[in-house]
Amino acid sequence: MSAKIDHIGIAVKSLEQAIPKYRALMQKEPDHIEEVKGQAVKVAMFRTGDSSIELLEATTPESPIARYIEKHGEGIHHICLAVENIDTALQEAVEAGLEIIPQKDDRGAGGHRIAFLHPKSTGGVLIELVEK
Ligand code: ZN
Repeated sequence: MSAKIDHIGIAVKSLEQAIPKYRALMQKEPDHIEEVKGQAVKVAMFRTGDSSIELLEATTPESPIARYIEKHGEGIHHICLAVENIDTALQEAVEAGLEIIPQKDDRGAGGHRIAFLHPKSTGGVLIELVEK
C-alpha cells in the first residue's frame, strides 16, 4: 500500500475564529475537535474525501504551533501521510536520508501513532506520518 495524504495541518491563532470560516468553506461542521496534550495543541478536523484539513491551535506558549506562528504567522504547518506501518516507514525514511524529529509522545489525534520528519530534510515541508 502506498502512503496517502491523511491531512493538511494549518496553524491558526484561534480555533474559535478559524472554525466559522472553514465551516463556510467546507460547507460542514468540523468532524472532530480534540485536545492533544502530548503535542500541546487543540485540533479541529474537517474531513474532505479521503483526507482532512486539520486546524491547529496552541494550548501552551511552548507549543510547537505557538512557536511556528511567532516565526511564520498563521499558515500551512505540515502535510500528514498515512502509512500502514510507521516503524517500517520511518526506517525507510531514514535510509533515504530523511531526519526524524525526536519526540517524547508519539500519540496524535485519535490516539494514532505519529512521527515528524524535519523540513530541512524534506524540501522545506514538515511531514507528519501517521499509522492507520
Ligand atoms: Zn497533523
